[in-house]
Amino acid sequence: MKDGLPYSKSLKIDEEINDDDHYLTSIETPIRSDAFEIDDELKIELIEKKFREIMEVLGLDLSDDSLKDTPKRVAKMYVKEIFKGLDPRNKPSVTLFENKYKFNQMLVEKDISVYSYCEHHFVPIIGKAHVAYYSAGKVVGLSKINRMVQYYSKRPQVQERLTVQIANEMKEMLQTEDVAVLIEADHLCVASRGVQDVSSSTVTSSYHGKFLNPQVRDEFLRYVYEGK
Ligand SMILES: [Zn+2]
Repeated sequence: MKDGLPYSKSLKIDEEINDDDHYLTSIETPIRSDAFEIDDELKIELIEKKFREIMEVLGLDLSDDSLKDTPKRVAKMYVKEIFKGLDPRNKPSVTLFENKYKFNQMLVEKDISVYSYCEHHFVPIIGKAHVAYYSAGKVVGLSKINRMVQYYSKRPQVQERLTVQIANEMKEMLQTEDVAVLIEADHLCVASRGVQDVSSSTVTSSYHGKFLNPQVRDEFLRYVYEGK
């Protein structure tokens, strides 16, 4: 990255007081307790019907060959792919290993792809997550960190919440406070509509335990931005 450390990166948040404001109300994804009382097949059926209505209201001709399967396609994509992280049954299972090598240095998994969706506009948030921890005796397969990031991304989200949810999961999973999560992402709701700012990105972080120490945090940031 050109301007050195990420502090100089623009933190882009819409300033207009209207529907562009991205408020975060809770660290838990706001979901109703009856969310999983109906099964995926029925959800797909219901969403298909409602999405068809949206397209019809927009005046689209659903008899067109190119459009006729879109409601079904969108419904399946919502339930089976891009929002499947709403369902706790889709949470990746994790096996912990003993830290046999007594590796007591910072462990960094960087540049994890993030594909999430702004819960205010239902358009993509695309970016990278960087996750670090110090082992408190247990370690986890690195791909599990990527999977956990993906699981929390596949929901309607707010970037701040996504960052904290991943950090909390890491703390619980690895039984340590020494966790850092940094996410840099572009929000298509900002880039393609509203203020139409294509060059800004949003940086959010969640530091705990040892990472509250500025020296440790700087070491983490050096690993992350090395060579950029
Ligand atoms: Zn948005």
